[in-house]
Amino acid sequence: MIIAIDYDNTFTLFPKQFTELRESFQKDGHKVFIVTARNKDLEPIPFKDTNGFDKVFYTDGKAKATVVRADIWIDDSPVTLCCDFIPGAAHASPSKAIHQGYKDTHILWNWEEDKFVSYITKNFIPQRTKEE
Ligand SMILES: [Mg+2]
Repeated sequence: MIIAIDYDNTFTLFPKQFTELRESFQKDGHKVFIVTARNKDLEPIPFKDTNGFDKVFYTDGKAKATVVRADIWIDDSPVTLCCDFIPGAAHASPSKAIHQGYKDTHILWNWEEDKFVSYITKNFIPQRTKEE
């Protein structure tokens, strides 16, 4: 699995806890990324905070879910997953590119005339835990 963790007001608020979480997932073979809407050149994240993560993605305001395919997202601002941001703009804009990364799963995410919709294309089969 891929776990994507936001940086500002997520990792920065709980660095100890998210470092423990990262190490725990990595120990079991999972990948853990930092995914931030920051611009890499204008607002680079200090190395001490990114050290140990498998990758760091700077989306520069683009909807995070259109840039990174992750299984689990941890973010204080979930709207940044599906909307593009322009610094200083009053509103976030739904990203029309979002369906590209998710059309192979059980749900096809899509936008119609700026209104978010989703289509279930296959029966959803929940994963069972070992105890079940
Ligand atoms: Mg944040």
